[in-house]
Amino acid sequence: MVLAQLGESLVGALARMAKATVVDDKVVLDCLNDVSRALLQADVRFETVRAVQASIRSAVNLQSLAAGTDRRRAIKHAVVDELRRMLDPAAGSGKPPCFVPRKGRKPASVVMFVGLQGSGKTTTCVKYADYHRRTGFSPALVCADTFRAGALDQLRQNAAKAGIPFYGSYTESDPVRVAVEGVDRFRNDQAAEGCDLIVVDTSGRHSQEAALLEEMRQLAEATRPDLVVLVMDASIGQAAFHQALAFKQSVEVGAVIVTKMDGHAKGGGALSAVAATKSPVIFIGTGEHIADLEAFDARSFVSRLLG
Ligand code: GDP
Repeated sequence: MVLAQLGESLVGALARMAKATVVDDKVVLDCLNDVSRALLQADVRFETVRAVQASIRSAVNLQSLAAGTDRRRAIKHAVVDELRRMLDPAAGSGKPPCFVPRKGRKPASVVMFVGLQGSGKTTTCVKYADYHRRTGFSPALVCADTFRAGALDQLRQNAAKAGIPFYGSYTESDPVRVAVEGVDRFRNDQAAEGCDLIVVDTSGRHSQEAALLEEMRQLAEATRPDLVVLVMDASIGQAAFHQALAFKQSVEVGAVIVTKMDGHAKGGGALSAVAATKSPVIFIGTGEHIADLEAFDARSFVSRLLG
């Protein structure tokens, strides 16, 4: 996984710094250059790298460190803190933590998925619902994608395979109406008693065009989701920033799922999406199979990385 490669490069940069006999300005500068190179190689946006560099530099101003301070530790801490902030910008910012569904919750939580066509949104909706089913939830899936021919059947068949209740319509072309009906059914119908998590799949387009963004805004307004998840294809690289920003401007994106991390993508695009939405990556998609979804926790990722 490419984030792991980024991790290794950063560990290498810190190890080189720790080996220096005397920690002076040149050692700090070399370490900063190593860190920046690792981030750029992972496809993180230049602007983000520059900001990270500036904050580490101001946190480890050797002249202002008290005598006797362990300089190696101070540098390591600054790098770790900055990395943590980059992966989970909400942490420590006063923003409420990312919504986490609770088993048995009444009324059922609504999690709405948004993203461009081909990002892996429909596949990820099923993976996400199935992940929760395996951990004791009673999830349901709603298809509010009335734009792409085949979306309904794809979701319906995958839901059936996973044994997850599903709602969609072959006749209704208004996505807002289908979404509201689906949420209502799983929240209020006797037959759906016990349902505690409703996952809403939405339309995509090939670009973040105005019509799509307006549709997402209306869907969010009508279904009032507890969480909006932005699905991003890891291979889109630097375009991720503007794409994520466009979605963020029309709906309150609360979390990001990055798909296709099993491919050749470098992962930096994911970090740019995080920077744009100020929301954490909660899962990563690692294949086409339903079980190919890994929970991602920025804090433990960073702690593991740096021991
Ligand atoms: P949507 O248009 O955003 O709903 O995208 P789909 O869910 O239809 O996915 C588009 C393609 O990406 C399909 O062929 C999926 O099997 C594939 N896909 C989705 N997630 C992943 C992933 O994590 N890894 C890989 N290798 N393929 C994925």
